[in-house]
Amino acid sequence: MQLGATGVSKRIFIVEDNELNLKLFCDVLRAHGHEVQGEADAREAVGRATLFAPDVIILDIQMPHMSGFDLIEAIRRDMILRRTPIMAVTAYAGRGDEERIREAGADSFVSKPIALRPFVDAVQGLIILAESRALA
Ligand code: MN
Repeated sequence: MQLGATGVSKRIFIVEDNELNLKLFCDVLRAHGHEVQGEADAREAVGRATLFAPDVIILDIQMPHMSGFDLIEAIRRDMILRRTPIMAVTAYAGRGDEERIREAGADSFVSKPIALRPFVDAVQGLIILAESRALA
């Protein structure tokens, strides 16, 4: 089992309506030694994430019922999750989209289609951010 740069397994919560992508993200991060919970329904995400207490949240922007933008804002309003680093995943890569994602409160974003190495590196960056926030 590979562990992150810090040598510690982290808890990662993933919200993605596409079941194949969700399985891929979960499998990749589990293969890196992390404890992962996936959620396909954005409306359930805040409640389930609160119970899971993740170190990092990864979420899709294009989702039915509730957009990733709205979900980021809901996470940032939640007393338990508000400081948890968020990585957004989006098929749109326009500069305006990146700004909007960051303004909504995400810490980083990766565009689809996902390349695994940059994806894993971006998650590792958020783990380091999570640790710095926990120490602050
Ligand atoms: Mn989607």
